[in-house]
Parts: sequence; C-alpha cells; structure tokens
Amino acid sequence: MMDVKKNDRFTVVIEDISQDGSGIGKLDGYIWFIKDTVTGDVVEARAMKMKKSYGFARLEKVVKPSPNRIEPVCPVARQCGGCQLQAMSYQEQLRFKENKVYNNLLRIGGFYNLRRAAQAGEADREEGNVGRGSAEDAKAIDFLPIMGMDNPWRYRNKAQFPFGEDREGHVVTGFYAGRTHVIIPQEDCLLGVEENREILAVIKEHMRQFQIPPYNEQKQEGLVRHALIRKGFRTGELMVCLVINGRRLPGKEQLVERLCRLKGMASISYSINTERNNVIMGKEIVNLYGPEYITDYIGDIQYRISPLSFYQVNPVQTEKLYGTALEYAGLTGDETVWDLYCGIGTISLFLAEKARKVYGVEIIPEAIRDARENARINGIENVEFFVGKAEEVLPRWYEKNRSRADVIVVDPPRKGCDPVCLDTIVQMQPEKVVYVSCDSATLARDLRYLCDRGFEVEKVRCCDMFGWTGHVETVVLLTQKNSMSSSIYERSRTLFTGQEGAGKQQ
Ligand code: SAH
Repeated sequence: MMDVKKNDRFTVVIEDISQDGSGIGKLDGYIWFIKDTVTGDVVEARAMKMKKSYGFARLEKVVKPSPNRIEPVCPVARQCGGCQLQAMSYQEQLRFKENKVYNNLLRIGGFYNLRRAAQAGEADREEGNVGRGSAEDAKAIDFLPIMGMDNPWRYRNKAQFPFGEDREGHVVTGFYAGRTHVIIPQEDCLLGVEENREILAVIKEHMRQFQIPPYNEQKQEGLVRHALIRKGFRTGELMVCLVINGRRLPGKEQLVERLCRLKGMASISYSINTERNNVIMGKEIVNLYGPEYITDYIGDIQYRISPLSFYQVNPVQTEKLYGTALEYAGLTGDETVWDLYCGIGTISLFLAEKARKVYGVEIIPEAIRDARENARINGIENVEFFVGKAEEVLPRWYEKNRSRADVIVVDPPRKGCDPVCLDTIVQMQPEKVVYVSCDSATLARDLRYLCDRGFEVEKVRCCDMFGWTGHVETVVLLTQKNSMSSSIYERSRTLFTGQEGAGKQQ
C-alpha cells in the first residue's frame, strides 16, 4: 500500500467517522482520514500527509455517494473552519454523536451494561448491544435517545466576525478557514441569525464612508478587528460590539443612528483591544447606546448578557439539556445542591427554584459576578456562589463544615474533573451526581472513577447543541450504589450515639 505518495489519487470506501468528524477509509490496512466525507461514500482522494500507519487525504470526487450524504447547504462549507459535518444528513449526525458517546463509555469507561433501545431516527431497530455480562453482574444503564434540534439551522445567538482586506483592498468579513487566520468571506452563516448580514452591511458601509481601515494582524495596523453580534432569542434584543485596535471610533453617532434603524437593536458598544494576540475581546468596553447589556431567558430565568459575559450560544437546546439535568436531580425542595463549574449560574438558578440551597463554584470571577447579578434580578436568594477551582473550594468547604450534599451537579470544561474534586464528591456522599459533559472521553474516565468508588450510572442522554459540528453534550445520572445500606448505617449510628451522624446538613 505504501507505494501511495504525496499527491497521488486513490479510490477508497469510507467505513467510519473519527471522533472529530473526518471520514475513515482503509487501503491494505493503512488508514486514511478524509474530511468532508460520510460513512458509506466511495470517494476519490488525494494523499496530503502520511504517517507510519495512517495518513490524511483530501476529498477530490465523490464516486458513489452514501445514502446519508447531502449536498452542503453552505457555499463555503469546505473552506470554513466552523462546520465539519455539512455533507452529513442531520439524522446521521445525531446517530454519529450518539455512537461516539456510546463507544467512549464502552471503551474508555468499560460500561458494558449500556442499554440502548433504539437510535435516533430508528425507533424500532433493536440494537444487539447489551454488552457482555450486563444482565448478571450489573444493572443496565439506560442510554436514552439523543435530544436533537427541531430545526438545526440559525440556532446560534452569538457570532464574532473578523474583519480584513481582500487582495483588491476591499473590506471583507466572514469566518476563519480551519486552523488559520485567513478570512473566508461569508456574511450569512446559516448557523447564525439573519440579522448578522444587515448589521455587517451597516458596519462595512460605515467603514467605507469614514475611511476606517480593518485591522491587519501582520502589520498590526488598522482599526476594526471584530464585530460581536448577539441576539436574545426570546426577547428579540440585539447587541453589537465592535472590537477596535484603538480608543476612538470615528463617526460613532452616525453608526449608532444607522444600527438603531434595525428592529430590536438594544445595545451598541465598542471594545478596546490594542494587544497583539488571539483574544478577540478587549477588557475595556465603551458604551454607545443602551444599557450595555441585552436580556434573554432560559426557562423562566432572566439573564443579563454584557459583551464580555459568557452565555450559552444555543439557548433552545440549553433549556433541554439543563432541563434534563434538573429532572435527573429529582429535587423535592429540601435538598442541598452543589453546582460545580457553574459559569454564570445557568444550572444553579434552574436548580434553586426546586432546592433548599444551591452552592455554585466557578473559576472566573466575572462569571460569578454575572451569576450573582442573575440571581438578584430573578429574586433568587437561596444560592451562594464561590470563586475558585472546584478542586480547591469544595474540599476546603467540606473540611470546614463536614456536611454532606444531596445532589452534586458538575459541568466541567473538556478536560473533565480533577481527581481531588471527584474524591471530595465521593466523601460528601451525595445521593445523586448529575454529570453534564462536553467531552465524552473525559466523561467516561470520570464516570469510571466514581463507579469504582461507590456510585453507579443510571441514565445517559445526549443532547445536540451544535448541529453540523462534531460536538455533543451528554447528561448522566449517577446514584450511590448502596444508598439503602448507607441510610441504614446512618440510622444505626444515630441509635448508637443518640445523635445525627455526619449526615444531613443542619
Ligand atoms: N454551566 C455553566 C457552563 C459551564 S462551562 C453555564 O451554563 O454557565 C465550564 C465552566 O467551568 C467554565 O465557566 C469555566 O470557566 C469553568 N472552570 C474551568 N475550570 C474550572 C475549575 N477547575 N474549577 C471551577 N470552574 C472551572
């Protein structure tokens, strides 16, 4: 096989999809990764880069399309770094994501007892996948069907458009090509809101009229670096924040006047970023119009979103994901709950309505400031937020207070939870742990860790928050394996000592 050299063309069948969404084909035992292909395609590809046992090739021609292949709707699907799965039907994407999580739980976590009744779009196909040993030695884990989007287009409430110049010196804006800072002109990304296009047109016209040059990264010259656009999906409110390489924006009154003609315009500002770096937003915001924030809702909770705030980009699916987390928490109103990696407190505030007390922990101080503000504007008083690392705040708190928790929710970044954090969770003996994850490999690792220390997985459910990309979110419910016996133990201790053990919090 290895007589294939760089730039050679060859024909291959796509047999599988890698974790990051590339098609996988095999020739004489050698593995090829080919982007923009779908399982079942027969393709002609060109060898680009070769390692010992695998290589990367570029799709040249689809010889025979897979039944799950679709014509990409986006005209720049292949150049743009945003989407990886534009050639895959949405149903197939959901299956791909479910399989990815399922396989990681199986292979990395060793959960052979997953029980999947049916897969996305195949309500009646019984998968022969109740793994070995499932019935005898472990209770089956319910692997529930993925929650897909009703409409997988225009779901993003936030976009950051970079500005630059084309060869002829015209201002262009769009998206970066994968792994580069080359701008692919595209003002109407189909994942974003329709208003983006109108707003960008106003900004470009303004730059033309006032002869404002876009920023040039190499030369570090020019003014306009990015435009941040956000929309409150429930409220219809729009935010525009221009990121500029300077302190002054020429003709700002005229820009405000023009933008305000657009329906829903609620907040206009600029952010000063004169640093030479990859960070989009500068820290200093100069407000030009409106209260410097827009408002939106997830469930009945109101959020104030400033240019620098974190906010979930797909609010519709977020509501489903966190709604599932809340359902799994099974709160009755009496519980003490921790929300670790709480961000701006989205889950904490969801939980607070149904719990006695919620504690949130998050490493970024600004996010905690927003979380407290969000609690305040919603009149929620039974939450308390801590700034710090979950693996430091939680052990310190437990050391001092020695009180356990009823439910602990975690929503960590991709690297998952620190073992110290997991150890403390084990010590605090919550009846339930709800794990929300954006990376099923670290999820599988952490679930195994908890299951080796007294927990068992009850249910797993995926949620698609980012259609056309390879990302998938998962919610998992864990319970104490011997919760019955531990409560008996608690009771018998009470009998012996005449007082409550290190049990419920006072
Ligand atoms: N549920 C949150 C989002 C969670 S994203 C919301 O809806 O707002 C993961 C969060 O974990 C990020 O906000 C990140 O800043 C935070 N984080 C990362 N490492 C952390 C750590 N070691 N301890 C606590 N928080 C951390």
